[in-house]
Amino acid sequence: MGIKGERKIATTDEKSNRGPWQDVDEADWQDWRWQVRNRVRTEKLLDELLKDAPEISRLRRTVIRTYPFAVTPYYFSLMKPRDAGDPIRLQCIPDPRELTFSLGGVEDPLEEGRDMPLPGLIHRYADRCLAMVTHSCMMYCRHCNRKRFWKAGRAEKARLGAMIDYVAATPGIREVIVSGGDPLTLPEAVLDSFLGALRAIPHVEVLRLGSRVPVVLPMRITPSLVRMLRKHRPLWFNTQFNSPRELTKEAALACRRLVDAGIPLSNQSVLLRGVNDTCETMRELLYGLQRISVRPYYLFACDPVRGADHFRVDLWKGMEMMERISRSTSGLCVPRYVMDVPGGKGKMPLQTFSLLNDSFLP
Ligand code: SF4
Repeated sequence: MGIKGERKIATTDEKSNRGPWQDVDEADWQDWRWQVRNRVRTEKLLDELLKDAPEISRLRRTVIRTYPFAVTPYYFSLMKPRDAGDPIRLQCIPDPRELTFSLGGVEDPLEEGRDMPLPGLIHRYADRCLAMVTHSCMMYCRHCNRKRFWKAGRAEKARLGAMIDYVAATPGIREVIVSGGDPLTLPEAVLDSFLGALRAIPHVEVLRLGSRVPVVLPMRITPSLVRMLRKHRPLWFNTQFNSPRELTKEAALACRRLVDAGIPLSNQSVLLRGVNDTCETMRELLYGLQRISVRPYYLFACDPVRGADHFRVDLWKGMEMMERISRSTSGLCVPRYVMDVPGGKGKMPLQTFSLLNDSFLP
C-alpha cells in the first residue's frame, strides 16, 4: 500500500541524513524488523555516533546504568547528533541531568501503583481501566513518566490472562486502554489475541491503544498490522508527536494507513523544555498534525517524575503559550493543555480565563 505520487526511492539528500546508515539498502531501511535489529543500544556505538567529549560519554554511562536506552536508526537519523540542544536528541539520548537535576521528582508521581488491583492493570476510574501489557518500547523516551519500569520487560502471558479475567468480571468497565511500555512491541499474534479477548467481553464497548510507534518506528505500521487492528474497532489510537521534525513522510504514511482503516488517531504531546516550548514550534507541530489527519488531543505538562525534571516547563509559561496559540489558531488544531495532578487526582485543565482576564497577555 503506498501513497499516490509518493516517492518509493529515497533521494540522495534523504539518504545523506542517515549518517552511518546511508549505504543501507532502501528496502532494509523501510523494514521495521531491520530497524529493530539495528537499534542503537550499546554505549560504544553511541559514543562513535555522537563523538561527544570523553567526560560527557563517561557521565552518560552512569545514566545508562539507571535508565537504559534504545534508539531506532530511523529516529536517530532525524537528529542533529552534534547539537546537544537538538529536540530529537533531547528525547532519545541519555542525559546526565537525568541523575543530577532534580526538583524533587518521584518515581511514580501519579501513584499508579495505588490503583492496581493486579500487576500492570490500573483501575482508577469506574468506567475504564488501563492495561500495561509490556514495559518494552521501541525507543526509550527520556521524559517518560514510566521510566521506573524500563528494566522490567514484557508482561508474561499469565498476566495478560489475569487482566482479561479482571475486566470480564467487572461490568462497569466499558473502555480499556491498552498501554505499556509500547503495546506494538508485542508479537502481532499476542496483541491480536489480547484485543480479541477484550472485544469478546460484552460490556467492553471501546478499546484505546497508546503507542509511540508512528513517531519512532513508523514502518512498523504495516498493512498487515493495520488489518489486524481494524478487526477490533471501535479502536482509538493515541500517539505522541512532540516535535514538528517528527512529522516525516514515513510518519505521515503510517498515520494515513491507520486513518484509512477507520482507526481515529489522536495525539498526546508532552510540553518539553527545549523541544516544543515556544509558540512557533508548537504551532508548527499542531498544523503539521492536522495536515496528516492526527487530532491534537492533549498537551500534558511534564509530570514531576524522577529523571525527567530537566524537561519541565513552568506551568504559567505553558498557559501563556497555549493562550496565544488558541487566539490565533483553528480550534481543531488546539489540544487541551492539562496536568495530571500528582497523587492520582486526575487531569486538571491548565488555561487562563481570557474573558475575565483579558489583560493577561501584553
Ligand atoms: S514509548 Fe511511551 S512508554 Fe515507552 S518510553 Fe516512550 S513515552 Fe515511555
